[in-house]
Amino acid sequence: MTDIPATLYCENHPQTETNLRCNRCSKPICPKCAISTPTGYRCAECVRNQQKLFETSRWYDYLSATILAGLLSLVGSRIITSFGFFTILLAPVAGVIIAEVVRFALQRRRSKLLFQIAAIATAVGSSPFLLIGLLILLQGNLGGLWSVLWQGVYTFIVTSTVYYRLGGIQMRV
Ligand SMILES: [Zn+2]
Ligand SMILES: [Zn+2]
Repeated sequence: MTDIPATLYCENHPQTETNLRCNRCSKPICPKCAISTPTGYRCAECVRNQQKLFETSRWYDYLSATILAGLLSLVGSRIITSFGFFTILLAPVAGVIIAEVVRFALQRRRSKLLFQIAAIATAVGSSPFLLIGLLILLQGNLGGLWSVLWQGVYTFIVTSTVYYRLGGIQMRV
């Protein structure tokens, strides 16, 4: 190909000169449109198509992720908050276990929504004892104050751990 015009124009911005091309479809793209990927600059379309390839989850994955994360989180909230202060140390461990069990159940299937749903299920699963504790507090019984505090800490830590740990596999691809 000898007669490539000296000046390229971005396909999305016909007024913008550029010397960049998408390294997948070779469409000319300006620096504003170029998306930096580990394998070079790509156009938005190619990046989108690539992401779709990674969204491989099936409908039953949502079901198993919800049930597993919710149940484990519920059991964990009961066990771990009974250790009081050590909730701070144990809740991340519970989060890692939940994330690993969910990941094992999903095998290699993935999607962003799936990870978000697993995190929501973790939060929901961790909340019944928190709500019960809050109800007791509202009745004027302050004896449960600490347990409510640790339940809250547990919910926060375990949910963020599950979300970031599952989300992390996606970023590594
Ligand atoms: Zn492209
Ligand atoms: Zn452009």
